[in-house]
Amino acid sequence: MRNFGQRFRKQGPRAAGFRRINNPKKYKRIVAVLGALLLTAGALSGVAVPARAAAPTIVSLTFDDGNGNQLAAEQVLKAHGLVGTFFITTSWIGTPGYLTQADLHTIAGDGNEIGGHTVTHPDLTTLTSAAASAEICNGKSTLESWGFQVNNFAYPFAAENASVQTDVKNCGFASARGLGDIRSPASCPSCPFAETLPPANPLVTKAPDEVDSTWTLQNLEDLVTNAESTGGWLELTFHHIAVGTDPTLTISPTLFDTFVTWLAARTANGTTSVRTVAQALGQSTPPPPPPPPPASSPFSDVPTNYTYFTEINWLATQGISTGWVEANGTKTYRPLQPVNRDAMAAFMYRLAGSPAFTPPAVSPFADLTPQTPFYKEITWLATQGISTGWDEGNGIKTYRPLQPVNRDAMAAFMYRLAGSPAFTAPAASPFTDVTPQTAFYKEITWLSSTGISTGWTETNGTRTYRPVTAVARDAMAAFMYRYNTSFPRS
Ligand SMILES: [Zn+2]
Repeated sequence: MRNFGQRFRKQGPRAAGFRRINNPKKYKRIVAVLGALLLTAGALSGVAVPARAAAPTIVSLTFDDGNGNQLAAEQVLKAHGLVGTFFITTSWIGTPGYLTQADLHTIAGDGNEIGGHTVTHPDLTTLTSAAASAEICNGKSTLESWGFQVNNFAYPFAAENASVQTDVKNCGFASARGLGDIRSPASCPSCPFAETLPPANPLVTKAPDEVDSTWTLQNLEDLVTNAESTGGWLELTFHHIAVGTDPTLTISPTLFDTFVTWLAARTANGTTSVRTVAQALGQSTPPPPPPPPPASSPFSDVPTNYTYFTEINWLATQGISTGWVEANGTKTYRPLQPVNRDAMAAFMYRLAGSPAFTPPAVSPFADLTPQTPFYKEITWLATQGISTGWDEGNGIKTYRPLQPVNRDAMAAFMYRLAGSPAFTAPAASPFTDVTPQTAFYKEITWLSSTGISTGWTETNGTRTYRPVTAVARDAMAAFMYRYNTSFPRS
């Protein structure tokens, strides 16, 4: 396994420059005494110690390297409505122990930011400028080729110098995170509690030490409350959130969860908020996440590359058609089966949003009883005037529920479902197999005008509508999908 768990302080040119506290215990005692004095002052005066009118505090939770256990941590953030920034080393993605591209899409889809962290995680200060640029720029372009917008960077091992800063800037990054310049549990005792916003140097933004296995819940909370005393930006850096992975750059999922729960509640104070790096720096809000990888099909007989997969999948997710459960337990849609008039009634009722409707106790149709499948939907359709059935003479009406629906009748159904909008049919038919005298001519040309069904272009270049062809269930899905686009449900 690659060992990048080595502490950044132990290598790199900045290692000698890190300010370490000389006597951490003495420092902690001072803080404790000050805290007690403040409490005493509040108690004596009988009023709460007034909060200092500090600037807003922004906390950014950042995650380095793309370690696989960060997905579970991200789900904890999501459960609390929080987001963070994930700095990704691209060559590690998809290898054992690391996040996959699909994981990154999940993470970005939840509103988190994806940031750059080079291709192979080198100490950039040891490379030529050309090699450093290749690491920085190629990592960015790889993430972009995967569909992410990448604006911000973190230096591997926090190792940087003026040359590397220039390389980062020239690769198009707006900021880059350093480490160890903000007061930390075991170092930097005279450092500020928070970075300024905007940072003095966005190419080396100041942050505390990396969170490591020695950190306690109190350490984490103290960093936040200390930052609140001055306001500004507190950027916390996590590596592993797991037990038994890395001996140093790890905190337990329990500690992480407890801290995130506390932090989420802390944002209720109105001055502290949790933001991605991009949000903290006021960069434009991230674009909508890239479309997720193709969903698996809900139906065993509709593969994801099926012509009308999108439409049929939409129909299923909307609950308009749930298909069949076959004897072997799989679900099918039966895309090439004709749509019968009873199923059409159910489709239309659901497409209309399943409005409240009490079906009549006595069936208005001689060929239906209240026990007939889709009785409610069919009688709803009749009361809407969408399909009134046939007058068989002698005052007897029938609905013919098992008769397939032809394309001409479907045009009429859709036209009426849309509320029979005003429409003047064209004098000349756009279809060679439909004339102005054809039944449902107005409805067919209306449907065509909406783009819901444009018919076929035949090999000789003419257009046909095929009015007496039965509507198959896959085409029905397409009509419903397009109808909903043109006439969205309220
Ligand atoms: Zn790293």
